[in-house]
Amino acid sequence: MILIKNGYMMDPRSGKEGFYDIFLEGDRISRIVGQGAQKAAEQEESYENKGAKAKEETAGDAGTYQVIDASGLIVAPGLIDVHVHFREPGFTYKEDIQTGAKAAAKGGFTTVVLMANTKPSVDNADTLAEVLEKGSKTDIHVTSCVNVTKGMQGKELVPMEELAAAGAVGFTDDGVPILQEALVREAMERAKVLKKTISFHEEDPKYIENNGINRGKASEHYGIGGSPREAEYTLSARDIELAKETGADIDIQHISTKEAVELVRQARQAGFQNVHAEATPHHFTLTEEAAIQYGTNAKMNPPLREEADRMAIIRGLQDGTIEMIATDHAPHAAEEKARPITQAPSGIIGLETSLSLGITELVDKGHLTMMDLLERMTAGPARVYGLDAGYLAEGGPADLILIDKDGEWTVGNYASKASNTPFTGWKLKGPVKKTICSGKIAWQEGDA
Ligand SMILES: [Zn+2]
Repeated sequence: MILIKNGYMMDPRSGKEGFYDIFLEGDRISRIVGQGAQKAAEQEESYENKGAKAKEETAGDAGTYQVIDASGLIVAPGLIDVHVHFREPGFTYKEDIQTGAKAAAKGGFTTVVLMANTKPSVDNADTLAEVLEKGSKTDIHVTSCVNVTKGMQGKELVPMEELAAAGAVGFTDDGVPILQEALVREAMERAKVLKKTISFHEEDPKYIENNGINRGKASEHYGIGGSPREAEYTLSARDIELAKETGADIDIQHISTKEAVELVRQARQAGFQNVHAEATPHHFTLTEEAAIQYGTNAKMNPPLREEADRMAIIRGLQDGTIEMIATDHAPHAAEEKARPITQAPSGIIGLETSLSLGITELVDKGHLTMMDLLERMTAGPARVYGLDAGYLAEGGPADLILIDKDGEWTVGNYASKASNTPFTGWKLKGPVKKTICSGKIAWQEGDA
C-alpha cells in the first residue's frame, strides 16, 4: 500500500486538479483526499462508516502505507503511448519487450501499445500470445496491435475477429501503407463491428524516392529524391473518406503535414468523431533542418517537414484535432544508423524524452497547458483505443507518475537498448521522478 502525499494532482479526464493525497491499495486507487477538504470528509465518514475508518487510520498510523512525499511535484496518471516498436520477436538486438518497457517506465509511461511489424509479424494468435505473455512479465501494461493484413503484404486480411478475441487492442500494418482500397474498406467494416481502432501509416510509395527525408531543402542537401507531402495527405484523404463511409475508428499515425492535419480537422468538424490522429514529439519539435544537422538520427517515416507543418501539428494539438501524442519509439542499432543516409533505417527512440519535449516545447512555450499536454498523453489515447487507463479516480488503476515540471535534466543514459535520437545532450524540462504501475514502483530516479 502506498500513500502519495502533498503532490499537486492533475487528472485530465475529470479536469480535477489541486493538492490531494492519494491512497493506493493493491493495483487500485482506494482514496483521493483533497487536503483542504480532508477534515470535512473525515467527519462525514465517521458517521457513515466508523469501523472501516478506524481501521484505515490504524493502518496509516502503523506505517502500513509506504508514504511518498510528492511536495513540489505534479501527480499525473501514468502516460499512454499507443505507438511503440519493441522489436520482439525478431529484432531483439535493437530492443526487446523488457528493455522497451524499462524505457517506457523511465519516461513515465505505464501503458504502451506495440506495433506489429516484428519478425514474424503479429498477424496470428500464437505470436500475439507470445508478445502479450512477455509483456505481462514487465513492470508496466504492455498491450499490442495486430496486423491488418497477413504478413503485412497488403493482400489478405488477418482473422480479425479471432485476434480481437485473443486480446489485440487494435489493427495496424504500421511501417507500410495498405494500398488496396477495397481491402482497407473491408478491414474498416470488420474493425467497426469489433469496436477496435484501425491505425494507418500513410505514405504512398508512388510519390517517394528514398524515404525518411523530406522532399525539399533536406532532400536537396543530400541529393536524394526524398518523400513529398503528397505521399501522406493523399492516402490520408482516402482513408478519412473510407472512415466516413464505414464509421470505423481510424488513427492517422504520426501525422506530419499541414494538409493531413486539416483533413482530420474538417472531418471531425463535420461530425466524424471516429477520425483520429496522433503526432510525435519529433514532428512538433523539429523540421527538416534537423535531418541536415543530425543525419540518420533525424531520419524517420514520415520525415520531419517544414516549419508550417510543425506549427500546424501544434495547432492541431491545441484544438484537439490531434487527440494523441505518440512516440513511434523506433530503436535501431548504432551500426545500422551509421550507414549512409539512404541506407540507414528510419526511426528514432522516443519514450524517454516524450513528456519532457512536451513540457519544454509545448507547455513552456505557451502552446499548450500542462493539463492539455497530459490529456493528449493519457485520456486522449485511452479514449481512442478503449483502454481502462490514463485517469486518476477512486477504484481506478493505480498507475501514476510524479513529475518535476520545472526541473531540468540532460538527455542521455538510456534505459532503451538503443540511442538513435537527435535529442541526446539536449537540456529539457520536466523529469519524471517516479513511475508507479499497478500500485508498484516501476521506475524511480536513481534506477539504472
Ligand atoms: Zn509508422
